[in-house]
Amino acid sequence: MRTQDYIELENQYGAHNYHPLDVVITRAEGCWVYDVEGKRYLDCLAAYSAVNQGHCHPRILKAFVEQATKVTLTSRAFRNDQLPLLYKLLHDLTGYDMALPMNSGAEAVETAIKAARKWGYKVKGIPENKAEIIACENNFHGRTTTIISFSTEPQYRDGFGPFTPGFQIVKYGDIEDLKSKINENTAAFLVEPIQGEAGIIVPPEGYLRQAEEICRKNNVLFICDEIQSGLGRSGKLFAYEYEGVHPDLVIIGKALSGGFYPVSAVLGSKEVLGVFKPGDHGSTFGGNPLAARVARESLSVLIEENMIENSARMGEYFLGKLKQIKSKHIVEVRGKGLWIGVELDGPARPYCERLKDEGILCKETHDHVIRFAPPLIITKEEIDWALERIEKVIKSFE
Ligand SMILES: *Cc1c(COP(=O)(O)O)cnc(C)c1O
Repeated sequence: MRTQDYIELENQYGAHNYHPLDVVITRAEGCWVYDVEGKRYLDCLAAYSAVNQGHCHPRILKAFVEQATKVTLTSRAFRNDQLPLLYKLLHDLTGYDMALPMNSGAEAVETAIKAARKWGYKVKGIPENKAEIIACENNFHGRTTTIISFSTEPQYRDGFGPFTPGFQIVKYGDIEDLKSKINENTAAFLVEPIQGEAGIIVPPEGYLRQAEEICRKNNVLFICDEIQSGLGRSGKLFAYEYEGVHPDLVIIGKALSGGFYPVSAVLGSKEVLGVFKPGDHGSTFGGNPLAARVARESLSVLIEENMIENSARMGEYFLGKLKQIKSKHIVEVRGKGLWIGVELDGPARPYCERLKDEGILCKETHDHVIRFAPPLIITKEEIDWALERIEKVIKSFE
């Protein structure tokens, strides 16, 4: 079968909830993917940061296969010998008291919302059904019915109401707006330390620090969604570290499994995650031994192979070089670590199509931003290879 055959099958029998680039990938290794025609591409999306460790990382693969031959799923009705080891590693690595494992990122966000609400009622003393959670304009936290209830993207909501109440929206980066929306029923402020899907938006310096301070003053939980920004993508383990803050809850996913398996978690204090009692919340697959083993290896690899330092170093190099590309269509080049947005004065899709032809895979975000987010193992030589082609493509639109 050729590229077109796969596309036709997919178009005929699959729901059309995505508009992928027409490249059919059949295998991948490190920063590179190969299509069914045998053509090679540099992956500059890394599955929205789920493969920060690079595709099919040999150590994660080995752990995955070994665990798959032993036991994959016990359900939480019984205990398994892998989950406690993941809990311990997450604690040692992040300093958080405890974790609650889930599968997809959206489920972990839902978990944080439930924790915040329950904390609001049981600990803070908010009257029943009055809890409010504040989120930001242009947020992206997933696609469940509750999460899209506080999305400000019309397409994510169109046709999906009625929505879950209890959410307020503030302008991202605007501390006064946050102050004005907090009241005695506010349970939490949920924020991405850098907004990914919105187009790699870095908030003004000091924003997270001030937001944390306001939350503390008002007894409001400060929650960071680090599903995309975390685990090395920004050049630190967590993007919130740039501001020296300490969120009450941290939501992680994506690279937590190095792309092998959906694994997510909420990290937090005993005071907050302790609100869950047996039976309050759960998931059949959440915390299963295969997920726990894969997550532990994914985290170990990230640390032991210095991928976070590489993200910081290579990100700075890549960003600097991209900034040097002169084009009247480039509005701004911004980012942190290996998470870079090139904002254009028009649609980014044609650029992504042309980059694909040149052997570079990336995806437009928010219509007019090209996002460059390769695996964190990328080398200077690979970045130079990419830069040559990126410059050529950008110039071709002059
Ligand atoms: C991807 C993402 C999610 C949702 O994760 P899924 O695994 O797709 O459910 C939530 N928040 C952020 C910031 C993300 O980037």
